[in-house]
Amino acid sequence: MLTLKDPSLFKQQAYINGQWCDAESGEKIAVNNPATGDILGHVPKMGASEANRAIANANAAWKPWRALLAKDRAAILRRWHGLMLENCEDLAIIMTAEQGKSLTEARGEIAYGAAYIEWFAEEAKRIYGDTIPASAPGRRIMVNKEPIGVCAAITPWNFPSAMITRKAAPALAAGCTMVVKPAELTPFSALALAELARRAGVPDGVFNVITGNPVEIGGEFTANPTVRKLSFTGSTAVGRLLMQQSASSIKKLSLELGGNAPFIVFKDADLDAAVEGVLASKYRNSGQTCVCVNRIYVQDEVYDLFSSKLVEAVKKSFVVGNGFDAGVNQGPLINEAAVLKVEAQIDDALSKGARVLAGGKRHALGGTFFEPTVLADVTQAMAVAREETFGPIAPLFRFSSDEEVVAMANDTEFGLASYFFSRDIGRIWRVAEQLEYGMVGINTGILSSEVAPFGGVKQSGLGREGSKYGIEDYLVIKYWCIAGM
Ligand code: ADP
Repeated sequence: MLTLKDPSLFKQQAYINGQWCDAESGEKIAVNNPATGDILGHVPKMGASEANRAIANANAAWKPWRALLAKDRAAILRRWHGLMLENCEDLAIIMTAEQGKSLTEARGEIAYGAAYIEWFAEEAKRIYGDTIPASAPGRRIMVNKEPIGVCAAITPWNFPSAMITRKAAPALAAGCTMVVKPAELTPFSALALAELARRAGVPDGVFNVITGNPVEIGGEFTANPTVRKLSFTGSTAVGRLLMQQSASSIKKLSLELGGNAPFIVFKDADLDAAVEGVLASKYRNSGQTCVCVNRIYVQDEVYDLFSSKLVEAVKKSFVVGNGFDAGVNQGPLINEAAVLKVEAQIDDALSKGARVLAGGKRHALGGTFFEPTVLADVTQAMAVAREETFGPIAPLFRFSSDEEVVAMANDTEFGLASYFFSRDIGRIWRVAEQLEYGMVGINTGILSSEVAPFGGVKQSGLGREGSKYGIEDYLVIKYWCIAGM
């Protein structure tokens, strides 16, 4: 069992309307530690009926919550933020246990996730409207921004805490209420957040977490007309399905879906900095983030030098193992299916002419541990060029001209993160403008921050999270036309 300073943060029940509760059927789902396969605990296997109840409670809680002064909502959010930081170590332990990432990365995610709550506590007070010069005599035109209403959120297992705070903080700041369904693989981080929300004074019904059957709960979230907005982070396939389901009730949607991030190393780049960029972006969370580098394009003139520097750095930088063990910075992959996908991409690439420069296979530790891998001579014809990898493979492609590499980088249905390294200011402007992505990291492999808008174009999704734009997704505009003055 987990050793926590505050064991009451480890909850095995769902949180609806301020109550900890079980599934109506009494059924439960077991949750494993991916590093050991051990069962960590159980959560209720809820379905449509409990989702319906949570939505009704969130709806009842909406009116009084939106009626609070923004500064009072902000104060509650600030307390929630403070409690996350105070309990950082316990939250990180819960996360490493259920998700597998190293304790250092887990602590980083708690600080990062908490930062969204702090940011949106501040933004709560700055939801400004407009006045517009009228188009007819005796009239006045005003634009107010109002909370959209009850929101539902479905979140993934790769960032079990931050993907919730990125949605819940702007929703609550705006005056909305929320029902969250975390991934069934990582529900304990979400339930710990609910406990801290309770302690912070978030009123009953304002923030709810239900666990269980994704298809049933997702079905209720999308069909129920009381839910005005759905925010989803996960695969493009499930996002597409939820979008179709939401058509029946014309819900506002925020979708943070898959990526296939290019990382371009131009011949004028600082190669050592570019290697650092790959290490930071590619292997974070063992390659299991939607902004992880997926394809590394290296200009002919520096291809060999860059590959040897990268291989050397990969070999000396990473220690694979249980995220709780000192020095480990590469945890296991989330499950066997994830390992099979990585293996299939490597097999496909090798069968079409790629070479393994580092790693390339399951780690000697067994289970779902995988060696940090570098592949050379990768081409656009290989599966690794088309599919999101979600694992620790760094595939190296060659290119010769700017036009060629921009075309290759854009040759995907995804458009989330992109990266490039160059020191030529003209090239930086041209390439940044030409990349069809929602985010561009220039001379950096890390771009996510609560102050900046995270999100994609094309089939990577809709909406933005974080920054001043992030709260707009939870607001609706109301236009007042006042006549007869
Ligand atoms: P991943 O490949 O990262 O597991 P998914 O898109 O399958 O991504 O999962 C992200 C979230 O979507 C999880 O909370 C999961 O339970 C949920 N989910 C999966 N399938 C469905 C579905 N059919 N309807 C609603 N939610 C779903």
